[in-house]
Amino acid sequence: MTSQRTRDRLIGRLQEGGITNKAVLEVIRNTPRHIFVDEALASRAYDDTALPIGHGQTISQPFVVALMTQSLLRDGVPQRVLEIGTGSGYQAAVLAQLVKEVFTVERIEALITTARRRFQDLRLRNIRIKYSDGTLGWPDHAPYDAIVATAAPEGVPAALLEQLAIGGRLVIPVGGSGAQSLLLITRTDSGYSDEILDKVSFVPMRAGMQ
Ligand code: SAH
Repeated sequence: MTSQRTRDRLIGRLQEGGITNKAVLEVIRNTPRHIFVDEALASRAYDDTALPIGHGQTISQPFVVALMTQSLLRDGVPQRVLEIGTGSGYQAAVLAQLVKEVFTVERIEALITTARRRFQDLRLRNIRIKYSDGTLGWPDHAPYDAIVATAAPEGVPAALLEQLAIGGRLVIPVGGSGAQSLLLITRTDSGYSDEILDKVSFVPMRAGMQ
């Protein structure tokens, strides 16, 4: 169920969906998604679907992880990347194999404990995790060359815009449940420009910690 053939089939699906970045495809092919979900769900880990990870949260659909990652890398590889919503740790693990440093923020402490263990098992040493409300970003390490949010706020948090480097990119789902757009926002010398990448369905971004 977690065989190379199952993984190759997933890569084929991502390519059919328009994922062309070779480095992104290779990292997804080689990242064991089954260790990011409960053992009972391992047989579905290479299906192109979101899966529950407890606490009412989900590991994102592989296509959406690929699309967000490819969008962040479109005009060159960012060095320092901030993720809001560590969850299972899967998106951070994918990023960590493509960029120099990953900073990730999560508001549910129990998820941090399991994600940290997975990063250790995979020997991913360039990921730092913070237990905090990600609507505030992670100011200590700003500015970031790229920021990715894996939970959807109603509007783009001002702190995330502020913590973006000039030329930096923010990929973020925005909107209420059932009507979210995945935005790619680029910080320019004079302000911000944005484009809509896709219609998506993420769990809501909530303020405060749990
Ligand atoms: N990137 C994750 C996706 C997890 S789902 C993965 O690859 O598995 C989104 C996550 O965002 C959830 O774990 C949720 O707890 C978290 N989240 C929601 N609002 C948040 C906030 N304000 N700050 C930090 N994390 C938040």
